[in-house]
Amino acid sequence: MLYKDLCRYYQRLEAETGKIAMMKILSDCFKKADPEEVDKIAYLTLGKLWPDWKGMPELGIGEKLTMRAISRATGVDVKKIEDIYKRKGDLGETAAFLVSQKRMMTLFQKELEVKDVYEAFKKIALASGPGAMDMKVRILTGLLVSASPIEAKYIIRTVLGKLRLGVGEATILAALADAFLGSDKYKDIVEEAYNKHPDIGYIAKLAVKGREALEHVKIEPGVPVRPMLAERLSDPAEILMKAGGKAYAEYKYDGERAQIHKKGDKIWIYSRRLENITYQYPDVVEWAKKYIDAKEAIVEGEIVAIDPDTGDFRPFQELMHRKRKYDIHKVMEEIPVKVFLFDVLYLNGREFLKKPYAERRKILESIIKPNENITLAQGRLIEKVEELEKLFLEAVSNGCEGLVVKNLSEIYVAGTRGWRWIKYKRDYKSEMADTVDLVVIGGFHGRGRRSGTYGALLVAAYNPDKDCFESVCKVGSGFTDADLAELPRILDKYKIPTKPKNVVTEMEPDVWFEPKVVMEVIGAELTLSPVHRAAFDLVRERLKKPAGIAIRFPRFVRWRPDKAPTDATTSKELFEMYLRQLKKLKE
Ligand code: ATP
Repeated sequence: MLYKDLCRYYQRLEAETGKIAMMKILSDCFKKADPEEVDKIAYLTLGKLWPDWKGMPELGIGEKLTMRAISRATGVDVKKIEDIYKRKGDLGETAAFLVSQKRMMTLFQKELEVKDVYEAFKKIALASGPGAMDMKVRILTGLLVSASPIEAKYIIRTVLGKLRLGVGEATILAALADAFLGSDKYKDIVEEAYNKHPDIGYIAKLAVKGREALEHVKIEPGVPVRPMLAERLSDPAEILMKAGGKAYAEYKYDGERAQIHKKGDKIWIYSRRLENITYQYPDVVEWAKKYIDAKEAIVEGEIVAIDPDTGDFRPFQELMHRKRKYDIHKVMEEIPVKVFLFDVLYLNGREFLKKPYAERRKILESIIKPNENITLAQGRLIEKVEELEKLFLEAVSNGCEGLVVKNLSEIYVAGTRGWRWIKYKRDYKSEMADTVDLVVIGGFHGRGRRSGTYGALLVAAYNPDKDCFESVCKVGSGFTDADLAELPRILDKYKIPTKPKNVVTEMEPDVWFEPKVVMEVIGAELTLSPVHRAAFDLVRERLKKPAGIAIRFPRFVRWRPDKAPTDATTSKELFEMYLRQLKKLKE
């Protein structure tokens, strides 16, 4: 197909707003194209050259270089191009105008074919090294010299990443069904293939071959599978019913979803959005090689940030530090992670998408050698609502977001959100409105950088009715190095061998302290916990739950030497704050 013909389709697409009409225009375009070109047309229409997950360079040329190429191709100086661009507001239109001015003089150019343009774009994207910028400008200039005005417009918009035809993957998939399977009512077949092999060019070429080719798409290590997603419910009874009355409920870890592919010694890690994030997790790559007992496998799990000093989970935002391209080994030490696996899609040449979850989980268990770095998501077979509630509280107090409840007999449907998995979580978008003052009752020995001092402290609220201190959380964050070094000096004088009588908690710290020292703490939210005991009686009486109030992701703010332990925030105050938080969430 000539590139100018593709450009005419682009023009028609731009003029159209209805999705069905756009799909039909594209379908017509695919039908007219040479079968060898449909992949290139599919990529180009999305403004791409290959799928993002391949981690290949993008086209991306900046405006300055683009203007230089326009100038070289048309003989108009950059200053004048800038002026016209200012007036037109679109560098594509500017190029089209300047090329139209010049065309009178250069007749009989070779006409550009789609594949010429695609190949030139590829060279532009792949140019690297010292002379890369010059090379890019030269190739773009070459294209513009051969381009008609309409071609110049779309070439420029594409290299600038501003094609914006309003066509997404879904429309292209429907158009492929319409063009090659006879109707867009077969778009599910194309979509299903795409969910298993999300490469629009690859799928376009299969579509040309017909339905059977699409239905035979196999998943393979190295090519990400679009992840299955969960529905959400907040009533545990309804969740259990929807999940089939008997379900496997797992902790919902608050990290980054990872699809880990293994083929011999080669490991790929893909994110929920199918980005290749392998470089961010050299540690996970090593563990996958060592602990996934398979030649080839595709497994899914959650990568969670860990506090290096306490071993506790850290909020998922901490993983953002891993996005750095440089010094990744340093960041790896600062932000260590753990992996919790929860599914297997493929093993040694066999696909497991059509197997029920109960079977997939068993297979997963059989190929993972659990250890402190990589293990299976904690879960339990649940048949009663109370069991589900108990596990939920347990998960939250262990730093998780809640649960993902899985229907045991359901298959894995790539790229869909459905009731096969149901998430049961609380929203906790808001930071706690206020800090609270809590009393130190215990300490946990530090590890790593914190060895020799405490890694975290157990803190409590005051209950004046019973004159006792009820535990609220374990605080390991917010301390500076200087604060940490000071901890033994401040606290060790209050060390006692056993739990004081006026302390109530289900936790077992390494060291008990007399409740003397008060600190100010802030956190992400208040939650219920089976191990902490603040306001336990009130929660049981008013909310009918055997739990205390706790703080999620607590951080040390400062010491409060001006406060006596009995001046600390009371359990009742915490309970009232919790009720206010619930009310706010409902609004
Ligand atoms: P959310 O923001 O709630 O994580 P989401 O849209 O990213 O939602 P959903 O599929 O709706 O994804 O929710 C499940 C997500 O929870 C998974 O994508 C995964 O990242 C995470 N997760 C944590 N633990 C588990 C688990 N045990 N099983 C499945 N998913 C889990």
